[in-house]
Amino acid sequence: MYYNELETLPRDKLRELQDTQLRQIIGYVYERVPFYQEQFKKLGIQPGDIRSVEDLPGLPFTRKQDLKDHYPFGMLAVPREQTIRVHASSGTTGRATVVCYTRNDIDIFSEVMARSFIAAGARPGMLLHNAYGYGLFTGGLGTHYGAEKLGMTVVPVSGGMTQRQITLILDLKPEVICCTPSYAQTLGEEFKKMGITPQDLSLKYALLGAEPWTETIRANVDANLGVRSTNLYGLSEIIGPGVSQECIEGRAGSHIWEDHFYPEVVDANTGEPLPDGQEGVLIFTHLTREAMPLLRYWTGDITYLTHEPCACGRTHVRMGSIRGRADDMLIIRGANLYPTQIEEVLKSIPEVVPHYQVVVKREGTLDDVEVKVEVAEDVFREITQEAWSEDILEADHQMRNLRDSIQSEIKGIIGLNMKVTLMVPGTIPRSEGGKLRRVVDLRKL
Ligand code: ADP
Ligand code: ZN
Repeated sequence: MYYNELETLPRDKLRELQDTQLRQIIGYVYERVPFYQEQFKKLGIQPGDIRSVEDLPGLPFTRKQDLKDHYPFGMLAVPREQTIRVHASSGTTGRATVVCYTRNDIDIFSEVMARSFIAAGARPGMLLHNAYGYGLFTGGLGTHYGAEKLGMTVVPVSGGMTQRQITLILDLKPEVICCTPSYAQTLGEEFKKMGITPQDLSLKYALLGAEPWTETIRANVDANLGVRSTNLYGLSEIIGPGVSQECIEGRAGSHIWEDHFYPEVVDANTGEPLPDGQEGVLIFTHLTREAMPLLRYWTGDITYLTHEPCACGRTHVRMGSIRGRADDMLIIRGANLYPTQIEEVLKSIPEVVPHYQVVVKREGTLDDVEVKVEVAEDVFREITQEAWSEDILEADHQMRNLRDSIQSEIKGIIGLNMKVTLMVPGTIPRSEGGKLRRVVDLRKL
């Protein structure tokens, strides 16, 4: 089932639509946004020179810094009075970025979110437990409007107050939940502690996003909440959640609603466009936005695109999961490292669970990475039992062995020496509702 027939438009027709929309939006921003007019003039190009999305690589990128330079309303293409809502990025990286929406933009936002819900398995009439934060962050209101548009019953819980969330889930019996993947883990663990099994829960589908996550986390959430979770991606500069959504049929990459947001993936260093399958920085060009259309916006998110046909029948291009932000990339003794690479290694080790933290320090001139990871509960119980009942040294020996084998596994796969610290189950910080920072970079303090 689809929300809009455009989701299955043959690709040649989709391209025609994109080209028409692009020509319109280029003329629109040229007339209305001084930033773009100056940029075009400096480059000596006329709006009419951009005929097709294939011409986009001829234009410069728009970066977060450009939005900051024009903070708060300098990038608007309409008078501020014609906008009906303001959101801001959660400010994960530095000062918040303010974005505005006209009524039509809010309709588009709701439309792409309604599509996303259907793709994730939700249907009109289902109950949605919405644990994305409400407020300046786009997550709560964006998903809320989309679900209402689809005809779902929305419970606007917002983030935090986990005990109340648990009660609401048990009492109201939602079929669908939206939140960050780390918060879904928190909820899942809480149910487990209470002895509530997935069979006792009404939940079927989870739309998880706003931060990077992996197949390990997916398996953990699916098992503890009894859902089939899918990836929901977005960023406030482009619209908020609903830029792309994984389909429940494929669960292998998220369909970008590219009749509204035209994607490219480019090399992080050279800015050159990359072919399908190659990882680089994700770029978006707005095709339909009114309040603050952006051309070639540099998201900083690292992923790849694929045009392979999908099991669900949608023709819209898919993006892989986000490996990380370009800003999240750690440079450790000259080598590039994404925290998700460490997670990949940890997932292959059954004695530990996907709760980890990466701490980076500088000792003298050397960068030091410490990986703190929780030991699986049953393994922990077994080893500590041994220590209490018989042989403390043997238990200690087993823990050291486990730690050493993780250390050499990381060294073998990533090629860097990292200190591994095994943590008692439940001691790594959990999400309390919002985005979880898994990297603590003490070098930046
Ligand atoms: P901030 O940049 O302050 O976090 P936003 O709330 O707009 O502000 O967050 C958007 C960013 O969140 C994206 O650029 C991306 O890095 C991250 N993000 C959003 N959805 C996902 C997802 N499904 N997977 C990985 N990262 C995501
Ligand atoms: Zn699909």
